[in-house]
Amino acid sequence: MDTYDVLVVGAGHGGAQIVASLRQQGFKGSIGMIGDEVDAPYERPPLSKAYLAGETSVDQLLLRPQAFWIEQEIALKTGLRVTSVDAQAHQVRCASGEQFGYRHLVWATGGQPRRLVCKGSDLAGIHVVRTRAQVDAMRDEVVHAKNVVIIGGGYIGLETAAILAKAGKSVCVIEAQDRVLARVTSPVVSAFYEEEHRRHGVRILTKTSIESLLGDKGRIAGVLLSNGEVLPADMAVVGIGLIPEVSALMDAGAVCTNGVDIDAQCRTTLLDVYALGDCVNYVNAFADGARVRLESVQNANDQAKVVATNIIGIAQASYSAVPWFWSNQYDLKLQTVGLNIGYDQTVVRGNPDNRSFSVVYLRKGKIIALDCINAARDFVFGKKLVAQGVVATAAQLEDVHVDLNSLAASAASATVGVL
Ligand SMILES: Cc1cc2nc3c(=O)[nH]c(=O)nc-3n(C[C@H](O)[C@H](O)[C@H](O)COP(=O)(O)OP(=O)(O)OC[C@H]3O[C@@H](n4cnc5c(N)ncnc54)[C@H](O)[C@@H]3O)c2cc1C
Repeated sequence: MDTYDVLVVGAGHGGAQIVASLRQQGFKGSIGMIGDEVDAPYERPPLSKAYLAGETSVDQLLLRPQAFWIEQEIALKTGLRVTSVDAQAHQVRCASGEQFGYRHLVWATGGQPRRLVCKGSDLAGIHVVRTRAQVDAMRDEVVHAKNVVIIGGGYIGLETAAILAKAGKSVCVIEAQDRVLARVTSPVVSAFYEEEHRRHGVRILTKTSIESLLGDKGRIAGVLLSNGEVLPADMAVVGIGLIPEVSALMDAGAVCTNGVDIDAQCRTTLLDVYALGDCVNYVNAFADGARVRLESVQNANDQAKVVATNIIGIAQASYSAVPWFWSNQYDLKLQTVGLNIGYDQTVVRGNPDNRSFSVVYLRKGKIIALDCINAARDFVFGKKLVAQGVVATAAQLEDVHVDLNSLAASAASATVGVL
């Protein structure tokens, strides 16, 4: 049995970053990394964007060149799935029966796309968008598809809708809530994106749920809605959320509540076991005391850097990075900074009709988040405002002649004055 000083389970965004950070910070110990996909770590965001559109190759997705793993002496083991953890013995076991030992374990497994459970959900032609292999399967089929139904109006569903509409498919998005992106953004941003998609010919049905999927010779042929309407479909894409991949840790006794619970240093409740990325649940400094599970590259990467520092042990690092996220649809780049949890006021900066604007979220007058659509300057300066917890008035924020940088600068000098 091979034993590593650091064993990382999950060869994705966070996994690739932790091993890179360890070596960058001078860690000389042995490192193993186990991933259940056949690929070396690659970027996931393009899967619903440029890669789906056929504009990016598999090689361009790779997070590190192939030579990196050898040069950095990282034992990368792909196509292996860890199924159990023995936290006392400091060992993991794979589905293949192979076992590995560790001094420190880092759990970076992301999650599985949530599947539909209605009648017909096992028909051929129903796709999810999480892995390169899944998107390849979808790309092979989409060539022959005319009518595509997308179930779920979140970022992944909408990004997929944009690519498929541009490819000339007839696309319908079904969303159970009363607006798309309801979980993550404000009504003004939801309305803007609904309108954009409709302009591109995408049909959007909100407050709509699915009764069953209808088949023909084992393949999807239509979608029966609960209002009785039948949508023709020769392909469906399901984007209804993620189930964090933590069952092995849970079985080992780790506290898990919607993902594995970690503390500010990214430690689980198991001795010598850290966790990071999409699979963790933690109190984020920007969430007003709430526990959150974030699905973003920034979150996975920044937590990986914290874990690396803590494993090396030169200093104790706590996670406190400002959250940010992006989404590309058509020629629109949305950049979000902060978390809008518990906002009590929104201010629209700029005009949605000009397709360049921001929505600023405030809680008791304090700026807690911004959604910036084709408004990169607002995003850059907004980061500072959120990091500093700047208090501003609606009049200041909605006046596009007031540069957000000046608000950040004056807040910084006010703080210096107080000190
Ligand atoms: C289509 C799509 C578009 C996205 N777009 C954006 C975007 O625009 N901006 C953004 O910030 N984020 C985006 N994200 C989210 C981002 O990709 C994730 O937040 C990020 O990948 C999380 O990194 P991670 O390391 O936690 O998990 P992953 O990158 O998912 O890596 C986890 C890896 O662990 C493997 N694994 C799981 N269980 C086991 C096991 N038991 N044994 C071995 N291996 C295992 C998985 O197969 C996977 O390869 C997108 C995600 C998807 C799917």
